[in-house]
Amino acid sequence: MLLARLALSCFAAMALWSVSACMDGSTTPGAQQPSANIQPAETRPQVFGVNNFKPLPAAPQVDPVTQAARDRILGPNAVDQSTVKLWWVGVSSFIVAGQGHVFLLDAWEIVGLHANYVPIGREELAAIKPEAILVGHGHFDHAADVGYVAGHSGAVVVAGSTVCDLARQRAADAGLNATFPCVNLGDDTNTQPGSLQSLKLWEDLPEVTILRHTHSAAEPTDLLSGGRPLVFIPDVLTYPTYLNTSPQETAAFLGSLRDDGGVGQPDGGTWAYHFQFGDFTLFWHDSAGVMKAGNPDSLAIQQAIARLPGCVDVQLNAIVGFGMVTSAYRDALAYVAAAHPKLALPTHHDAWAPGIGGGAKAYEQTWREAVASLPSPPALDYLTDPMDYMKPRVFNINDPRWSGGCR
Ligand SMILES: [Zn+2]
Repeated sequence: MLLARLALSCFAAMALWSVSACMDGSTTPGAQQPSANIQPAETRPQVFGVNNFKPLPAAPQVDPVTQAARDRILGPNAVDQSTVKLWWVGVSSFIVAGQGHVFLLDAWEIVGLHANYVPIGREELAAIKPEAILVGHGHFDHAADVGYVAGHSGAVVVAGSTVCDLARQRAADAGLNATFPCVNLGDDTNTQPGSLQSLKLWEDLPEVTILRHTHSAAEPTDLLSGGRPLVFIPDVLTYPTYLNTSPQETAAFLGSLRDDGGVGQPDGGTWAYHFQFGDFTLFWHDSAGVMKAGNPDSLAIQQAIARLPGCVDVQLNAIVGFGMVTSAYRDALAYVAAAHPKLALPTHHDAWAPGIGGGAKAYEQTWREAVASLPSPPALDYLTDPMDYMKPRVFNINDPRWSGGCR
């Protein structure tokens, strides 16, 4: 009875979240051109801007316990100088090993109506001691475990301002170290869509380029001008199969639903990251904002993606978002068109939440068709849940495939 009530309340909260999200008709604001970020003077301890962060060392020391955890979780010798490896851990979150460095893109163990769907959880994310956690935005499905992982590992959190504060608060509440360093990228009010920042995160690697873009949003007016909702048959069996039976997990999940504003544009902004590892370049974004003809923010973001240094070899791109309700894949596809990668891996399309997490299979045919409609489509590595969770994608940075710059 208790379990049934927990599951029901969890589902109700999720459904409420989904519905309010879908009803959220917010559009990207403003018509300004990209401009320099204006941020107030930083007074919080161990919080840096991109310009005064001391880069992490070239050859990080790894203690034997961490090395053993990495060997167990990532496989033996997973970290080396000549490759970039990606492990998908649900939604848009990845473990990355790049040229000897280990870091995370987002940090959330999928939980809600279901649990233990991904083979590893937040404990393993902490045990591999990532050097940094780069956060796309602060909604729960991307960042609810940032505090836990950084609190255990001391990882540098690169994120919007509010994300650092909440992560530190969560770490403190859990009795963990809450003084991990943060790189503050700004927030939704003091940065402009389309603006770029460069962060020297590691001594031995080129700067990471960080793009302020926008979160996905439904635009009801699109339905009046030919827009259509994406039609799909959601996976429903996953949820009862992996039913969450933990009251603690459910309580923590419900407490995270309003993180960083809850729905609509996150308070801490929405950020995309571009990495260079030798000839190999990687572009990651965990949402796809409105990309509409005549919208100045859309244009600014599109132009900024085109200016990324060394272009994009591999793109990890969110294909599911609120825009799907009113304009199907328009926005997600526009990000791929703008980045024109050699290879694209869709994300955020797994069974992460009932109703809006349809499961990868539900979107596969339509997404393949959408990408094929591009003038010069990339190769697709269509990630599928749950079989592709923790199945590494390995890129040799010296592969001639990545040389030769832009397509
Ligand atoms: Zn979000």
